[in-house]
Amino acid sequence: MLMQISANRFIQSMREVVRKMQKRSKPIAKISLSILVVGLFAGAAAIATVSTEQNALVQPVQKLVVDVLTPPINFALAHEFVNDASNLTDVSESYDAIVPAHETYISETRVRSGDTLSSIMARLSLNEPGLIAFISQNKQALSAHKLYPGRSIVAALDHNGGMLWVRYYHTPGEEQQGVTVTRYLEIAKDATNDFEAREASETAETQTQVAVGTIESSLFAATDLAGVPDAITSQMAEVLGGKIDFLRDLRRGDQFRVIYETRTHLGRPAGSGRVLAVEFVNKGVPFTATWYSHNGQSGSYFDKNGQNMRGTFLRSAIKFSRVSSTFGMRNHPIHKEWRQHSGVDFAAPTGTPIMATADGTVDFIGWQNGYGKTIILRHNNKVTTLFAHQSRFAQGLKKGERVSQGDVIGYVGSTGWSTGAHLHYEMRVAGRPVNPLSASLPLAEPLKGSEQVAFLKAASSLHLQLEKLAALQEAVPDLMNVASR
Ligand SMILES: [Zn+2]
Repeated sequence: MLMQISANRFIQSMREVVRKMQKRSKPIAKISLSILVVGLFAGAAAIATVSTEQNALVQPVQKLVVDVLTPPINFALAHEFVNDASNLTDVSESYDAIVPAHETYISETRVRSGDTLSSIMARLSLNEPGLIAFISQNKQALSAHKLYPGRSIVAALDHNGGMLWVRYYHTPGEEQQGVTVTRYLEIAKDATNDFEAREASETAETQTQVAVGTIESSLFAATDLAGVPDAITSQMAEVLGGKIDFLRDLRRGDQFRVIYETRTHLGRPAGSGRVLAVEFVNKGVPFTATWYSHNGQSGSYFDKNGQNMRGTFLRSAIKFSRVSSTFGMRNHPIHKEWRQHSGVDFAAPTGTPIMATADGTVDFIGWQNGYGKTIILRHNNKVTTLFAHQSRFAQGLKKGERVSQGDVIGYVGSTGWSTGAHLHYEMRVAGRPVNPLSASLPLAEPLKGSEQVAFLKAASSLHLQLEKLAALQEAVPDLMNVASR
């Protein structure tokens, strides 16, 4: 039933999009959107509403879009896409649907900032004496005391408006041993008409999504335009961080193509998953990373030859984020004469997260004369890295503890002999300082023999998909930027 209503709404939405498209004066936008719509719905009934004005010139591109988009994009995601793209339905703020199913009425809302239990109950038309008192006293109902804005609350009512149950989806899209689950609190009436609370979980569905874009001003500006979630953008920068310093190396005209997972639960967004494959063309040079798991549980990113991306030190020790990306491209790092300095300085405001540039263990954490609050990481028996002038360390981090590449170990500051907030970063090989920006120190061997064959086999469809995206981007550079807005 729910699906059917979604389908009707979806087709209505599609018609609306097409109408809007036809009103637009910019021809490129019109063609792009038509192509995307056809691409999404090749084989679906909706195709009939949009396929009339294709011309011969557009056909090869259309074929490409169908090739690229058809396998990974499914109905639920397309539905979400249209909602986002056209703003026809406001699903992000609140969404109330009444769906009859076996005389059960389902209503749903989302937590807004400033909400209280009673304001939420009112929106759900839930008038249940004693419910709020029960929630505030019952130990099982603890998770209801943290109302995260954006999270979903669903109530089931009988035909008299009496409560059957109410669910608070407090933890959407959490990964547990390779499976994504959504956890929720359910409060229901038991046989004696008393309230009872329990924590429960359901498996979330995973969809695969693709996007391409071209850098005009910043990576986030480009990924925003392509509809890529922030969490995926950050992952892209992390995964390729050994090849590209995303705060310093980006140039206008750089391109990306990315294949990534999104999660839904009951047709609603439940967070981003993993980047499956990403290609980034920086200053004309393409860098590719593909997720590969040989046992289906743990995995890592590999380049096209099977070299583990984790085996390379990150080019920047400053965590890439929407915030850091706004100051990074202007003044990062501070340039100093390398020979006199024995380190690299990254300018960043106090409090900016600092991350481990490779897997390692904490060799030293504390105060060092001149360096102020300092961490030294040991990566193998030869290589160490040093992070100085920190304002504070990551909470609970201790000597001897293992850290992974990309883990936040501390925060930028100006402790010790420092004239302003910055990170002083050093790398030493057998005790001798080397320039971390030009050092090439692979920490892991590339995959070889049967392992490499297995990787290439597993990654081949993703590599092919990246190639198709590249061809598509070449054919219509503005396509996705326009279409997925
Ligand atoms: Zn320095």
